[in-house]
Amino acid sequence: MKYLLHGCRVVTMNARRDILDADILVDGDRIAALGPDIAVLPEARDAERVDMTGRVLLPGLIQAHMHVTQILFRGLCDDLELMDWLEKRTWPLEGAHSAASNAVSARLAALELIRSGTTSLVDMGTIRHEDAIFEVMEAVGLRGLFGKCMMDEGAGVPASMRESAEDSLRETERLIRKWHMRGGGRLRCAVAPRFIPSCSDALLTSARDLARANGLRLHTHASENMGEIALVEGSRRMRNILYLHKLGYTGEDVLLAHCVWLDGEEKRVLADTGTHVVHCPSSNTKMSSGFAPVAELRDMGVNVALGLDGAHNHMDSFLEMRQASVLQKALLNNPLALPAPEALEIATLGGARAMGQEAEIGSLEVGKKADLIALNLEMPHTLPAVGRDVVGRIVYEATRENVTDSMVDGRFLYRAGKFLTLDAGAVLRDAERECLGCICRAGLEFGTRPENAVQRPILPSRQVTS
Ligand SMILES: [Zn+2]
Repeated sequence: MKYLLHGCRVVTMNARRDILDADILVDGDRIAALGPDIAVLPEARDAERVDMTGRVLLPGLIQAHMHVTQILFRGLCDDLELMDWLEKRTWPLEGAHSAASNAVSARLAALELIRSGTTSLVDMGTIRHEDAIFEVMEAVGLRGLFGKCMMDEGAGVPASMRESAEDSLRETERLIRKWHMRGGGRLRCAVAPRFIPSCSDALLTSARDLARANGLRLHTHASENMGEIALVEGSRRMRNILYLHKLGYTGEDVLLAHCVWLDGEEKRVLADTGTHVVHCPSSNTKMSSGFAPVAELRDMGVNVALGLDGAHNHMDSFLEMRQASVLQKALLNNPLALPAPEALEIATLGGARAMGQEAEIGSLEVGKKADLIALNLEMPHTLPAVGRDVVGRIVYEATRENVTDSMVDGRFLYRAGKFLTLDAGAVLRDAERECLGCICRAGLEFGTRPENAVQRPILPSRQVTS
């Protein structure tokens, strides 16, 4: 298809950060032209004209760490810190997934992601039924890196979530053969061991070798909360990031989610190796994990991307951008910390770099993929506009309510407020049924809070530094 999107204001996120009153010509999956007078170009004559008068167009937002498998369990895991959250709720529920329920969870996630302006995601998957996630993402049209979650040991891991290192690697290899570069390269595989406490060294090193042999991203969690770090120091006698570095889990092909509790040496290792850090501000605050020092990491040259993480109640990339910015201001007692243009950068170009696809996505430029979203900022919560910087309005005020259109690879997934690749009503009905099925199969009591949740000590609110 060929579209001429006309009448819009374009936040390009190009190297000059141009904001232009311009039209965009989309030809197939790419941006063929961008500028004020392109409607008169011969190649624009046969394009379908799409009136975007008054709309603000930006690159599709990128969520560089999430778990679509957990979205079906929204609200079932409230008010717990990480290890209780995993052991008492999330792992039993993930382990209770069938292929059908995992597909519904992926559809529910896709519905919310598309509605909130996300066009690409990096997903951690779950132990089994990963094909269901790929099938859904192939059908709904989102772009992403997907890796089945790998875990072969650890305290508190239910039998339903355990697998041998051999089986985990065999399944990951099968998924790579079947799915990598499907959809014209829109779907790609990553290798995704969950985190050190649930992985043996044998699994971690084999997974690393598998990723490097296939040129794939390594994606794992690191230093999310102090309990996790204590577990790693107890079993490996090293700081978490330093141990990951020793195992080869640093470098330009590595995405580490969270990185909240880092000492000075760990920060330097991340900067020196070009490792990508995925900041998950809603997750870190909801689970009282802490405040990741992402403004400091960016100053040190670390690429920071944005992540929604798991079932932390909502998936609105706009709220996540705002959260990322305001948390740094609070952490550093500095209103200039992570200003709006930087928050928008981590949600677009930061994610594209983390995915290794900055030549293709993350900004609106001629020759790049047509992954874009349109916003209507003429709403009460984003007005008045007089004298305002549009990027500030996007980061501090916009929500998913402002999103009117979403396009990936030149294909509309959401157009003028309507989903084109999902039956929203069916997804919502299926979600209720499949959620109940997972609760029953997991043996959890519906509507109750987990008993015996350990009261963790109150942690210092400021970052540990060396
Ligand atoms: Zn996560």
